[in-house]
Amino acid sequence: MRKFPFHPVSPWLHELETAQPTLAHNITADVVVIGGGFTGLYTALELRKAGLSVVVLEKDFSGAGGSGRNSGYCDGIIGKDLPSLLKLYKIERARELCDFAMVAVRKLEAFIADHQIECEYEAKGNIMAAVHPKQVKKLEKVSQATKALGLEYTFLDREAMRERGIPAPFIAGVFDAVGGILNPGLLIRAIRKMAIEKGVQLFENTKVLELTDSAPVQAHCEGGTVTAQSAVIATNVYANELGWKKRLITPICAAMCETEPLTPEQLSVLGGWHGREGIYTAHEQLENYRLTARNTIITGGKHVNIPYGFKVPDKELYLPQLFTKIESIFRERFPAIPEIKVQTFWAGWIGMTLDFMPAIGATGKHRNVHYGLGFSGHGIPQTLLVAELIADQVQGKKHPLAKVLQRKVIAAPPEPIKWIGSNALSAVFSAIDAVTDRQVRQL
Ligand SMILES: Cc1cc2nc3c(=O)[nH]c(=O)nc-3n(C[C@H](O)[C@H](O)[C@H](O)COP(=O)(O)OP(=O)(O)OC[C@H]3O[C@@H](n4cnc5c(N)ncnc54)[C@H](O)[C@@H]3O)c2cc1C
Repeated sequence: MRKFPFHPVSPWLHELETAQPTLAHNITADVVVIGGGFTGLYTALELRKAGLSVVVLEKDFSGAGGSGRNSGYCDGIIGKDLPSLLKLYKIERARELCDFAMVAVRKLEAFIADHQIECEYEAKGNIMAAVHPKQVKKLEKVSQATKALGLEYTFLDREAMRERGIPAPFIAGVFDAVGGILNPGLLIRAIRKMAIEKGVQLFENTKVLELTDSAPVQAHCEGGTVTAQSAVIATNVYANELGWKKRLITPICAAMCETEPLTPEQLSVLGGWHGREGIYTAHEQLENYRLTARNTIITGGKHVNIPYGFKVPDKELYLPQLFTKIESIFRERFPAIPEIKVQTFWAGWIGMTLDFMPAIGATGKHRNVHYGLGFSGHGIPQTLLVAELIADQVQGKKHPLAKVLQRKVIAAPPEPIKWIGSNALSAVFSAIDAVTDRQVRQL
């Protein structure tokens, strides 16, 4: 059997920094944050701004979760995708949600600029692309509908795509000029450094084994306990394990891969891709393709694993079946450069809610346990805005945008119903996409 080149976290985090200390004694703080990914660290930074003392407890290291493993798209999408948003909600609600997603992108861009974060951010926009004429119709509709949503999407026909140098298999698209692509490894490292400098006490290799439902709240770890007025659960996909907000988040495993760097000749064979836009396809389960600062291509999506139960299996994500599938679909989309090698594969857990939107709130007998979870593949921009909402909530303030995410977030059904239902839905999406891809091969 083929041995895949594999990174246990992701190539974004090749060189890991020295870990922060492990908690080895009992301490107190105003707020204890569980999870040192984007959500946890941004929230900690916001709380420090307000002068509160904050401890962040991270079971591995900052970036070990989705924050250090993702594809690096910073986009204004909320929910499954724009076509679904338009189907599911009235125009006013869809507009409110899109505005929220847009604010999130703008906020992240301002954050990166204000703090001069070098995370290879390229504000080049993103393209939802068609690979078959039948998807073009869908994109035309989306492009029309976005006007009512106050969005500035541009429909790109075949000619416009070629002018931009987009690889030929992507035959049309809708271009969203807002957002772009970045290096999430550099971003999470920068936020981690900033948090430490601002006085956040970050403990790594420190797993919270139990969070009490009490006032004050206590986070028990092997080496000690943190006692605090409030807690923030920022564990995303791992919330089920902690025993809080059970079944709110469905874990889904997605695989990624990165090619070797493309030479200028290879880029030119593809058309140039000089706009360097992030591309994702109009499939039911999207494929994504983006260039990095080193002109490698990172791709993933489409095929996912949905485990039985809500606990994230505690094992290395070496997944030959998924790796084979993502490489083969990459080869189909990039026939012009058959010689390019894939240099690394990796995978990560995405935390999904049933409506694909983040869940935020306060819970527990004393309403002192706050949470922000389930970014459903759009956490890069949305975690920063959600962190502001959580920090305000902790301080008893009302953020003007808090009401946008206020809704009854329905928990997934218990097993085996969740497993059967979600795998059945994924199978339906896969079947629809398989038909499309077969039709593409017959063109
Ligand atoms: C393959 C992949 C591709 C993606 N692509 C994109 C993309 O292109 N654009 C986009 O916007 N989003 C994308 N995402 C989603 C994005 O990465 C997430 O939404 C975001 O990182 C969520 O951040 P977080 O801090 O909430 O969670 P995480 O980064 O997962 O952080 C949670 C942290 O909590 C820690 N933890 C868990 N349990 C405990 C415990 N008991 N005690 C202490 N610590 C604990 C974990 O170790 C982890 O570090 C992708 C995700 C994946 C996996």
